[in-house]
Amino acid sequence: MAGSAEQATSTGLAERLAVVRSRIAAAAERAGRDPDAVLLVAVTKTIAAPRVAAAVALGLRELGENRVQEAAAKAAELASRGPLRWHLIGHLQTNKAGRAAGLFDAVHSVDSARVAEALAERRPEDLAPLDALVEVELTGIPGHTGATSDQVEAVARAVLAQPRLRLRGLMTMAPPVDHPEQARPAFARLRALRDELGQRLDVALPDLSMGMSDDYEVAVEEGATIVRLGRALFGERSPR
Ligand SMILES: *Cc1c(COP(=O)(O)O)cnc(C)c1O
Repeated sequence: MAGSAEQATSTGLAERLAVVRSRIAAAAERAGRDPDAVLLVAVTKTIAAPRVAAAVALGLRELGENRVQEAAAKAAELASRGPLRWHLIGHLQTNKAGRAAGLFDAVHSVDSARVAEALAERRPEDLAPLDALVEVELTGIPGHTGATSDQVEAVARAVLAQPRLRLRGLMTMAPPVDHPEQARPAFARLRALRDELGQRLDVALPDLSMGMSDDYEVAVEEGATIVRLGRALFGERSPR
């Protein structure tokens, strides 16, 4: 038995997970999509390892972190919990690419040719090619990272040029809005960009990583294949 603390934290978590799963399924059905075609990544940033272990025990094995250092520490603490897949969802600086390349199974935040090259160079030979998504910045908010829609093709080509990377698709963060419905145009735009890009490059781009706790149902209606949820599963985060 893992202990009563872990049990206590998993109760609310189990309920929230059930709600999330049923909302994803309902949104998929509204759009005529297969609910199983939507991957749930549990965003564990700021969440301590024992609570993450409780999430893993409930079947959440795809975990998202936005800092390399924090992910490395947690991956080490959770190494005994069976195979997990770690997703980097936050901005990556090239000087951290070496560490990230061996730690993560997927990087959603590739936003420059330089980052793509740094990841590919450092991806360990004994691991499969690293799944890569190009992050696209569609909000125009100053300081937000991500390739602009004009840069996406060049970044995607840089990923495709690297045999140690596997281009999976695009990722975006919707602007902060008062109502989830207002995020819909950003999601529709990402899907259109993905469709155009796939045609121009003549490659399959299966993944759209879009949708967070406040807007994931709209994202699923617009074609998300990966939603990244933190607060909807773990509750409000305390400040770091
Ligand atoms: C924190 C974060 C999330 C999860 O946000 P919630 O609102 O807690 O669901 C998803 N994507 C990225 C890139 C994040 O940084």
